[in-house]
Formats: sequence, C-alpha cells, structure tokens
Amino acid sequence: MVDLKGQYDRIKTEIDSAIQSVIDSSVFIRGAEVISFEEELASYLGIKHVISCANGTDALQVALMTLDLNPGDEVITTDFTFIASVEVIVLLGLKPVFVEPEPDTFNISPEAIEKAIGPRTRAIIPVHLFGQSADMEEILKIARKHRLYIIEDAAQATGTEYIFSDGTRKKAGTMGDIGCTSFFPSKNLGCYGDGGAIFTGDDRLAKLARSITNHGSTRKYYHDDIGVNSRLDAIQAAILRVKLRYLNEYNIARRNAASFYDRQLSQTEKVISPFRSNKSTHIFHQYTVKTDPGNRDGLKNFLEERGIPSMVYYPVPMHRQKAYSFLNPDNDAFPVTDALCSSVLSLPMHTELNIDQLKYICDNIYKYFEDNS
Ligand SMILES: *Cc1c(COP(=O)(O)O)cnc(C)c1O
Repeated sequence: MVDLKGQYDRIKTEIDSAIQSVIDSSVFIRGAEVISFEEELASYLGIKHVISCANGTDALQVALMTLDLNPGDEVITTDFTFIASVEVIVLLGLKPVFVEPEPDTFNISPEAIEKAIGPRTRAIIPVHLFGQSADMEEILKIARKHRLYIIEDAAQATGTEYIFSDGTRKKAGTMGDIGCTSFFPSKNLGCYGDGGAIFTGDDRLAKLARSITNHGSTRKYYHDDIGVNSRLDAIQAAILRVKLRYLNEYNIARRNAASFYDRQLSQTEKVISPFRSNKSTHIFHQYTVKTDPGNRDGLKNFLEERGIPSMVYYPVPMHRQKAYSFLNPDNDAFPVTDALCSSVLSLPMHTELNIDQLKYICDNIYKYFEDNS
C-alpha cells in the first residue's frame, strides 16, 4: 500500500544527517528541532500556532480538552472514519453523535450535521477523509449559527486546500477553532514513528494546548491545568523538517498516480473512481474506489493473489463498533455508511508508484471483471 523505503532512499543523505545532528546535540525532547518544525509547519499551513504532540489521537484529545466542554455534552462526528476521532470523545466523558457522510465525497454531510444538532450539542469534528476537505464553508455556517466549536481532523489531509465559494483557499485544519493532524508513517506527511500536531489561530487555545501537552504546566512543577504527557521527539521533528520540504512534491506524485488510475479505470463501469470535489484539492491519502458489494471482496482476493495489496477503509462504521454499542445507535439510521463499508476498496497509493506498477494493478482489475462478468 505504501513504499516508505523507496521514499527514504531518495532523501537518505538529508534524513541521515538530520537524525545524526539530533544525536550529536543530545537534545532528544523539545529543543530547537521541535520549535523549528512547528514554525515551518505553521508557515506552510498559514496558521499562527502549531503545537506538536505524540500522535494524531492525542492531538484530538488535547484539542477537546482545551474547550470548555462538560460531561454529557455532545460532539457530532462522521460515522465513516477511523476510530480515533470517536474514542477521544468518549474517553473525555462526552457523547459522540454519529452522522452520515456524503456518498460521493465520503466526507461528513453538512445537512446531516444540522439535523443532528440538539440542546447539548457543543462541537463538530469533521474528518477530511482520504485527502479531500469536508465542506467547511457549510460547516462553518452551521457552527456559527448554533455557536458550536469545530475541531478539524486533518490527519489524512496535511496540505489539502479547501476552496471557498469566493475563491479563497485555506489549508485543511486551519478553518475551525482547532485542527489536528497525525505524522503516522503512512500519512501524507509522515515521520519514522509516531507524531501529531494541533493547529490554531487562537492565542488562548494555543497556550492552553501547549500547557495540556506538557502536564498542564508552563512553569516546571507548577500545574495550572490537568494535562497529559504528549510530545514529539526531536528526531521525528528533524525528519519531518526534511519531509515537509518535499510535501508538495509528494502530494503531486500522489495526484499524478490518481490521475493515471482515473484514466485507466474509466474504461470499466464496474469500478467507480474517487469523486473530485470542486470545493477541495485532493492529496489522495487514499485512492478509494467503489464497486458493487457482491464483487468487492472477490476483487480484493484476486488482487492479493497477484501480489497487489488493497485495503478496506473502513469495513465497520462507527455505529456498529462493539465497544460503542452502549451508545445505542439506531442501526437503520445509517444507510449511506453501511453501503460505503461494503463497497469501498483502497488501492495502493504512495509517492513511489510507477507506470508499470499502476498498469499492472489496473490490468488485473479489468481481468477480474472479465473473468467474473
Ligand atoms: C491516522 C488518523 C488518526 C490518528 O492518528 P495517530 O497518529 O495514529 O494517532 C486520527 N484520525 C484519522 C482520520 C486518521 O486517519
């Protein structure tokens, strides 16, 4: 699905010297590398503050902790996402309210958000899924109207741009009150271990987020807030500083691979290529096609037998996750997510895909449908 070794080989000298310089300095926690990375990412994103932390899940948790939310308050999020967006809500004693995605973009439906708003709703967590931004202009309008916080989960969208109706562009994660991302190795901006970050334009939230990631402390051994221990290692920051310089190039490489898939797969009606919204750029964290549920698993196995990996993101919607069954969701209320979970398939997508590999993958997709029609 990814080729992190191939990517490393092309920037090996820069990465190796960045790692070595951290070891030589022996400043492993915080320090200049971390501060420089935060500043460089803030400048790339066009946001005032970036606060790094240990992973994307922590970023979401810390973001929620900075807001004045009380146990039982409701947080609306999408039913079609990775579990991290939901577990932090529950861990903080808040109540997740799942809503359906749009069937074409896979992103949270603004209409569904509006319908789910109740007297205890306090926040919305839109997830910019697979590399494309959720419809932030609509979501911002809803949030303003109902006085709700927005925490953007941009773990799959570092570098994605949302395009407002007046043509203004903003980076995913910089439009709500707080944005969160992950530097998990396979993300578009990935490190060589775990990492994450919080973005905000609000000085007060930034200060609080920084304190919370550091045991609720801004002065050693004085704790003004209840915090956690969540920090980015200096070695990871040094690696990320190198990789940030390549991020645009990497996202273009993914987009080129996606265009190749689009062209090849347009020759078969059995596979629907990812929808491209005119309100967002797409950085293809995943290239996720839809096929009919009767063929999805057969296709996946067929590809696997020919050495082609593919993945189902996500096989089980949030409302059907066992751990969260205590929320008593109405299982009939999510037909869109249920349909997506049985029809989506993500194909290999990374910065090192070449034409031969892409051709081989597409040829085998046709072959499956020739054999099974
Ligand atoms: C990866 C991911 C996360 C969590 O990031 P970690 O760094 O793995 O904790 C959260 N939300 C989404 C949508 C993700 O894809």
